[in-house]
Order: sequence, then structure tokens, then C-alpha cells
Amino acid sequence: MSETGTTHPPTTPSSNHEPAASFESMGLSSAMLAALEAAGYTSPTPVQAGTIPLALKGVDVMAQARTGTGKTAAFVIPILERLTKRKKGEEPQALVLVPTRELAVQVRDEFTKLSQGRKVRTVALYGGKPLKGQIDKLKRGADCVVGTPGRVLDHISRGTLNLEHLRIAVLDEADRMLDIGFRPDIEKILRRCPKERQTLLLSATVPPPVARLAQRYMTNPETLNFSPAEITVDTIDQYYFTVEPNRKFELLLKLLEREQPQQAIIFCRTKRETDRVGRMLAKKVEGVDCIHGDLPQKARDRVMEAFRAGRVRFLVATDVVGRGIDVSGISHIINYNIPQFSDDYVHRVGRTGRMGRTGVAYTFVSPEEGNELTRIEMRINQLLKRDEIEGFHTTAAAVAESAVVEQAAPPPQQQQPAEPVTAGAVPLAPLLSSPPASPSAAPGKRKKKYRRAL
Ligand code: ADP
Ligand code: MG
Repeated sequence: MSETGTTHPPTTPSSNHEPAASFESMGLSSAMLAALEAAGYTSPTPVQAGTIPLALKGVDVMAQARTGTGKTAAFVIPILERLTKRKKGEEPQALVLVPTRELAVQVRDEFTKLSQGRKVRTVALYGGKPLKGQIDKLKRGADCVVGTPGRVLDHISRGTLNLEHLRIAVLDEADRMLDIGFRPDIEKILRRCPKERQTLLLSATVPPPVARLAQRYMTNPETLNFSPAEITVDTIDQYYFTVEPNRKFELLLKLLEREQPQQAIIFCRTKRETDRVGRMLAKKVEGVDCIHGDLPQKARDRVMEAFRAGRVRFLVATDVVGRGIDVSGISHIINYNIPQFSDDYVHRVGRTGRMGRTGVAYTFVSPEEGNELTRIEMRINQLLKRDEIEGFHTTAAAVAESAVVEQAAPPPQQQQPAEPVTAGAVPLAPLLSSPPASPSAAPGKRKKKYRRAL
């Protein structure tokens, strides 16, 4: 539904659309231009230049662009411009669905930043926070609601959120929102929204099944693609280390010492591993904190805030922060555990190298995880470069050995013999008493072939 709904242009290939050269040329309100200036957004990013003019017309848009390219403002700006005066009982006008609580907060903050100077109210609804406060905020009137599907449904079923008057629905991180875990909730929510609404979908990746599914929720969507084939940003150098699971922590310390990251996220697969690595690391370096889904929301907010402010330098995390979170100081991503899904790799690595800055990502791979590494390389359509740190040659040799099975590996003897760990070495004691790093590293599972010479 839109004021300009009757002038819907026919769906045309994205290349036929003229992207806007500047925010001024989009015909934005003076309040919006002032807010953009205050935010330091001097010119639109490509996804904004393409999406905003279309979205302003009220048409449905499905936009694909790499992480860190400003997709949030690409929908926040047109929503704010299309809002009409709030009428009691006819709110909210816009709903943004996001996969994580952190993202709900971040998107809400973008709304707040860009609605500066006008009386727009945006409420974030997500789990881990008491319903009461959210209900009070909704009662006071909300033009826009940003929420995670579970909590949004919760409010709908309690009658504290009514979507009958909704005009714009957004699925941010649409690939994730439409995967099997979230889909039933998304469908339930969208069924509560008017059919003639405008729907916007934004995503770093749009695999064909998601594209097909998305058609169900949209009307003649315009599709824009700003991230052909390669999703991982080119400015990110990506390396892997081969390492025995029980030496990962030692390698981590050496790597941090060598790299001196400005800020780093160290990704682990499980909550338990995250806590464990966080605890051990905190004993060695300053500025460490942990975040995962088991932490109370308050603690998660606190950690993210400290990370954004730079007080936390090393954030040990599960994939809960792998998506959408934008912190500009992240120079390093370390995959302490190789991600289970290749898409998570893309999202994790996308946390660095934001807005064209350089970044580097390291992935620790145990000898048994060669196949996982291959899957990631196929997904990003490039090979990760191998890195080495002195003292970890034993592992490399062991892996190289298994690689010989498959193809002619360069002779392992070109590697230096392992040197004894010397001054500044990391005490191994806490590691030795720890359980194996991940289930996939269990011995006896080693017949997986390493797919290339090392
Ligand atoms: P995405 O959703 O595509 O991953 P975000 O919306 O999180 O990206 O934006 C990434 C960063 O870029 C944020 O820090 C945001 O403030 C900044 N940003 C967005 N648009 C602009 C712009 N036009 N000019 C400068 N910075 C921008
Ligand atoms: Mg985003």
C-alpha cells in the first residue's frame, strides 16, 4: 500500500534503474538530509543508491549486497520518509524483522539516528528482556517496530502488537530469516500484515531457494544485486592454520602476539568453548570478554557496548554476533573453530573489512577438518592462503602427510624441524586438562581426506 501505488512501474531488470547519485537527488526531506549529514553519511552507498529511490515509490524490493555496505539505511531512510502522522490505534506503520537481538538493537539505533529531529518512535522487541517494558513502549505509540520473530509473535498473541495497519514490512538478513528455522514464524507474522503492504528484503546472499520463497511474500519485487558471485569482501585477507585441537589456544596467543589486532572477534562453535577460551584468554591479555546466547540480555548488551566503545579488544563469541553486527574497529577475525556452515563463515568474516577498510581473517583447521575448509573455499570461490607460525610445524607435517594420499604434496621435509617452545611461551597446563576442542576433532574420525597439498 502506498501513496504512489497506482504508478507502480513494471518490473524491470535492475540494470535499467538509474541509481541516485546523491542523497539530495533522491528528493529526501530536509529533516532527512540533516540527519544524514549529522550521521556523516555524505553520499549513498551503491545499495542505498539503488534501493532508496525504488523503495520511496512504494514498490517491493529485494536487494542483495555484501555485509557492511549500508543495507540498514537503505531501508530505514525510505521507511522514515514514507511514514505518515502517527494515529492512535493505527500503529505501527513499519515492521523490521531481524534474526538476532543484537541486530534488533542496531537497527533500532539506526532508526533513532536517522529520525533525529522528528517525532518518530521506534521500539525494539526481542527476547531476553522483560515483556513489560516493551509493552509500555508499544502503548505509548510506535511508528516502527524492529524485532526478532519469536518476540514479535509473542506480542501479537498477547494482543500487545497489532499489525493490521502495517504499511511496510522488512526482512533484514533475509537469507537467514527464510531458512527453515525462522520460516514458520515469519509466515505467521506476515499473515497478520495487510496484503497490500510494501515488502523489502535485504540480504548478503540470496541463494535460489530464498529467492523463490521470497516471491511468495512480495508483489512484483524489483531485484537488485550488488554482490555478484563473490560475497566475501575483497579487502579481507583470508588465511588458515592447520593445528591440532589441543594446541589451538597456544596458537591463538602466538597469533595475537604477532598480529597485535586493533580489535578482534574470536569465534567458537559452542557456548561452552566460548566461555572456556574467554576465561583462558582473560588470564593472558587485557580487554577480553565473551558473548553467546546463554548470557542474559543485559550482559550481552553490556558486552556489545564495551566492544563498540573499544573497551573490549578481544571478543570471544559464538555465531550470535556473526551476522549484521557492525563495529568499525574490528581488524581481525579468528575462527578458533571452523564454522559449521559455510554461510556462517561469510558472515563471520564479513565483520571485518567494513566499508572498504582492510581486514584479515584466520581460520584454525584441525587435520580432520579439511573437508569443512574445502566447503568454505567452494562457497567463497577462492582458496584461503596458508599461514604458519613457528613451533606448529608438527601439525603441518601431519596434515601434509595425509594430503599425500590424495595428490602430490610438496615434500614435508622443506619444513623446519619443530623448535622447542621458548621464552614468552604459553604454559600448556590449562589446556592439557581440558576436553577436546570440538566433537569433530575426536580421534578415530580421521579418514577425511585433505584436499590439497600443504
Ligand atoms: P550491512 O547491513 O550492509 O551489513 P550496515 O547497515 O550495518 O551494513 O552499515 C555498515 C556501516 O556503514 C555502518 O557503520 C553505517 O553507519 C555505515 N554507513 C551506512 N551508510 C553509509 C553512508 N552512506 N556513508 C557512510 N557510512 C555509512
Ligand atoms: Mg545488515
